[in-house]
Amino acid sequence: MTARDAAELRTVCEAMRSEALVALAIHESPDSDAVGAASGMLELFAALGIEATLAVDPGVELPFAAEFLPAERVVEGPPLPGAALYALDCGSAARLALTLGDGRRRVVNIDHHHDNTRFGDLNYVDGAASSTSEIVCEIAALLGLRFSPRAASALYAGISFDTGHFQHASTSAGTFAACARLVADGADPNEVYRLLYETRSLASLRLWARAIGRARPAAAGRALLTLLTADDFGDTGASDDETEGIVDALRGVPGVEVAALARPRGDGQVRVSLRSEGFDVSAVAGLKGGGGHRQAAGFTTAGTVEGVTEWLSTVLDERLSTASS
Ligand code: AMP
Ligand code: MN
Ligand code: MN
Repeated sequence: MTARDAAELRTVCEAMRSEALVALAIHESPDSDAVGAASGMLELFAALGIEATLAVDPGVELPFAAEFLPAERVVEGPPLPGAALYALDCGSAARLALTLGDGRRRVVNIDHHHDNTRFGDLNYVDGAASSTSEIVCEIAALLGLRFSPRAASALYAGISFDTGHFQHASTSAGTFAACARLVADGADPNEVYRLLYETRSLASLRLWARAIGRARPAAAGRALLTLLTADDFGDTGASDDETEGIVDALRGVPGVEVAALARPRGDGQVRVSLRSEGFDVSAVAGLKGGGGHRQAAGFTTAGTVEGVTEWLSTVLDERLSTASS
């Protein structure tokens, strides 16, 4: 965190202290970072004596909600009138897992996506932070507050998830400092590892086999693309969250700079995950209205999985041939 970041983060702390009523919001298809950041922020507001809930649209699935979130603080439906909205881990207002009712409300935007659209009235965007969970740890430190074991494990899980368990380039000394504090607060690294990485169903393994078996090189081997169809999910019984990790496995093949996985989303749309080493995949995702990080990005678009993969193959052929290796 730079000195300017620290000053901006103090402004966020002041804003938090001044709230009367708060609704937290996270991105659609919430991941462990979104859940961890929300769990942490719920505790910080509780410690400040401020009423706060996590607001999501009905039916939104929250990973590890039972382990990491206080059920009584999670509400389905629009936030109460007058509640300030704290958006967490969300690059743009369009990605919120929450339909906002009418009426203007103050929005505080706390995130780590470098392409964040700064849609808040107050924005704290640290594109160098490993995760929004790490930013929430920095906020706690500035406020002089600590976490319960549940929130500490949730935040640790968020950091672990977004860093690929401390492997990505975003993993810094600050990341480990935050984790050290979380473990001191009662975070359980062993349990988090078990929850996030050691539990894989047979259905999921079968889905992985199909995706990996179908991987095709593009851009003279510098990209590796694969797709899953509705039949793959139907036949194996696996769900979309069990695709987590497939695209990272493809990225690990020597010589592969960009990996992609396309799969149907159920509503006629196709969802694509992109991973890279160096090459900016958020720019490619941006061509279809998506975004994310330089090395991990995504988009959702109309079309067929085959058609979208074909389009990607063409774009990567062009872009990787002009990018330096
Ligand atoms: P995923 O492949 O779903 O794990 O997403 C990787 C990264 O891309 C995450 O940081 C997401 O926030 C971002 N991302 C995924 N889909 C979108 C989208 N439709 N729009 C903007 N960012 C996205
Ligand atoms: Mn996220
Ligand atoms: Mn994140």
